Order: sequence, then structure tokens, then C-alpha cells
Amino acid sequence: MKIVLLGPPGAGKGTQAKSISNKYSIPHISTGDIFRYNITQMTPLGIEAKKYMDKGQLVPDDLTIDLIKDRLTQEDCKNGYLLDGYPRTVAQAESLKNALEANNEKLDCALLIDVPREFILDRMTGRRVCPSCGASYHIKYNPPKNGVNCDECGNEVIQRADDTASTVNNRLDVYEKQTSPLVEYYKGENQLLVVDGTQSINDVFKQICEKIEAI
Ligand code: ADP
Ligand code: AMP
Repeated sequence: MKIVLLGPPGAGKGTQAKSISNKYSIPHISTGDIFRYNITQMTPLGIEAKKYMDKGQLVPDDLTIDLIKDRLTQEDCKNGYLLDGYPRTVAQAESLKNALEANNEKLDCALLIDVPREFILDRMTGRRVCPSCGASYHIKYNPPKNGVNCDECGNEVIQRADDTASTVNNRLDVYEKQTSPLVEYYKGENQLLVVDGTQSINDVFKQICEKIEAI
């Protein structure tokens, strides 16, 4: 199964991706997590990506497309994958489509987690993440069990550098301008599925499973 998760920053893609990946046994590939890992390792890719991420801008297509092309050729992607945060531009979507078509493959669906802008600031400024495994928490809606440490791996959760109110607003503008056209793009490909992302984390997951199992 090959799935793309769509939705604005803060929609719940990372949160749902963990559950989808576990239930359907497909790797969760988050370009944001890959960039953040490269930043902590201070690789050339991380140093370059950080310039854009700190401002809430997209990392240029050429860097991001090459990164994903390489990742999708790895052994664990043989039976499918779940892309979270990729594609984010029409050029990225076209590149993915071409790479799949070259192997006579296609996506099973692009799943939009639909959340209106007025919900997002609260979700993103209250988000806490595990710097080690990438698990996403929220101080009000989904806190770690002891309030401080990741439930999965025990590391102390932190606030992401780009989850401040000013950067969040910029990221939402970037989403509307550069990424939201992908909703029409995947509608045109007959691959778009939509779930209501304003419901509870469990209820969003239920909707997602129903949609996936009806394909
Ligand atoms: P994305 O990966 O789309 O940027 P996340 O999965 O990190 O978003 O979720 C953003 C924030 O919102 C996190 O703090 C997460 O715990 C919280 N969250 C996710 N889904 C819901 C939901 N359905 N209801 C309330 N809060 C949610
Ligand atoms: P995310 O973790 O998905 O919220 O992404 C965090 C940041 O990483 C974004 O604001 C971008 O700067 C960068 N990023 C992640 N995925 C992409 C992508 N597909 N294209 C360009 N930039 C990306």
C-alpha cells in the first residue's frame, strides 16, 4: 500500500502516521523528520535545510525530491510506504508520479486530514515532540503519560524550533500557496480521500481505517 498524507501543518499527519504505519505494516516516511535528523547530525543537507525550516519556508524541490527518490528505493519500501509531509508542491507530486509510473505502479490514495486554519495555532504551539523517535504530543489534547517523557522511548519531549506563533503563521501561508493545490491535483488523479481532522485523535484514526479499507 502506498499512501500520501495531505493536510496543513498541525493537521495531525504525524500523529495518525504512527498508527497507520503500525496497523498496516508500512514504513512512515516523514521528510520533516529526515531533515530534523540531518540538522542534529549537522550534515550538509541538514545545514542547508535549516536555513529554510527556521523561516517556515519549504526546502527547495531539488534537494527534497532527490532525498525521497533515494529513500523510496530502500528495501523496507518494497511493499509500500506512508509519506508524511511529501509531496508539498506540484513539482514534487509530479516527480513521485513519474517515479511510480516508471515501475508500472501508482499511489493507492492521497488522504487529506482536513482541519480549518482556526484550529491550527493552538495545535502547533501546544505540540511537543520526541527528538529521538519523532512521536508527537500535545500539552492539552495528547500529553505524554508522565507529562515530560516520550511514552515510546522515554526521552524528554521538546518544543520544535518552528512551532512559535510567528513561524506557524508563515507556514500556514506557505501551505495555502504552495501545498494546498495538491488537493485539486489528487482529486484530478481520482486518488483523493478526505477525513474530518477536527475530531478526536481516535475518531480521526477510525475514519482513516474505514477509508483505506474501502479502497
Ligand atoms: P502534523 O504532522 O500534521 O504537522 P501532528 O500530528 O504533529 O501534525 O499534530 C499537531 C499537534 O496537534 C500535536 O500536538 C498533536 O498531538 C495534536 N493533534 C493531532 N491530532 C489531533 C486531534 N485530532 N485533536 C487534537 N489534537 C490533535
Ligand atoms: P513538517 O515536519 O512536515 O512540519 O516539516 C517541517 C519543515 O520541513 C517544513 O516547514 C519545511 O521547511 C521542511 N519540509 C518538510 N517536508 C518538505 C517537503 N516535502 N518539501 C519542502 N520542505 C519540506
